[in-house]
Amino acid sequence: NEQVQRIKQELGIETQGTEVQRLIVEFEHCGFPATLNGNLKKAGYEAPTPVQMQMVPVGLSGRDVIASADTGSGKTVAFLLPVIVKALQKPSHGERNPVALILTPTRELAIQIERQCKELVKCLPNMRTALLVGGMPLPPQLHRLKSSIKIVIATPGRLLEIVRQKAVQLDKVSIVVVDEVDTMLKMGFQQQVLEVLEQVPEEHQTLLASATIPTGTEELAARLVRDPVRIAIGVKNQ
Ligand code: ADP
Ligand code: MG
Repeated sequence: NEQVQRIKQELGIETQGTEVQRLIVEFEHCGFPATLNGNLKKAGYEAPTPVQMQMVPVGLSGRDVIASADTGSGKTVAFLLPVIVKALQKPSHGERNPVALILTPTRELAIQIERQCKELVKCLPNMRTALLVGGMPLPPQLHRLKSSIKIVIATPGRLLEIVRQKAVQLDKVSIVVVDEVDTMLKMGFQQQVLEVLEQVPEEHQTLLASATIPTGTEELAARLVRDPVRIAIGVKNQ
């Protein structure tokens, strides 16, 4: 315990919340399937970054998380690992029915996240992803939803458009990520994010990731999370 405190201090890992899960210093300590451990290695992720050390075990425990860490600190893998493990545990609900939803403000980010996700789910069973983003033709995205998918990575506007067409259903979603909450707010997506979340069952886990915690984040976060663990790496930004 003293040792954990020292690691946290040295790496600038700050946590807030009730009974925060203990951090991990190696991915192998997470109890992942061997295939996932292998994929982490192959992707070049030998050891967890500070935000991953704390966010992965909290996320795996099923709790809500609000994480802030600078750009480039590895938040994507930090939320993808809990998402992937949950998606592996949940039965497939067939076409149009993802169990995990990752919301991100831009198409470029969504593409990056899907790329990292595909690296990590290689050779894992039934882990198809769908990318639902604006600025790209709609028909291929609709077509993709006609086969069994587990994880949807989306921008809010395009996702809502597809939800309205009933081409995707969010009533089996059990884990939601809102990435770059700060950018979401800056781009005026708050209302759309809330509208998407109305489609998701009450009982779900929420992971929020952000580089900074600007004004308005707390207000939105309060509406999205329950008994969260807050994780901040280094000095909190304004
Ligand atoms: P953030 O979302 O915090 O800005 P990213 O998740 O985009 O950061 O990660 C930044 C870079 O770090 C990416 O190129 C990613 O592949 C790499 N990365 C993430 N986790 C690790 C790790 N554990 N070991 C080595 N590289 C990593
Ligand atoms: Mg990021």
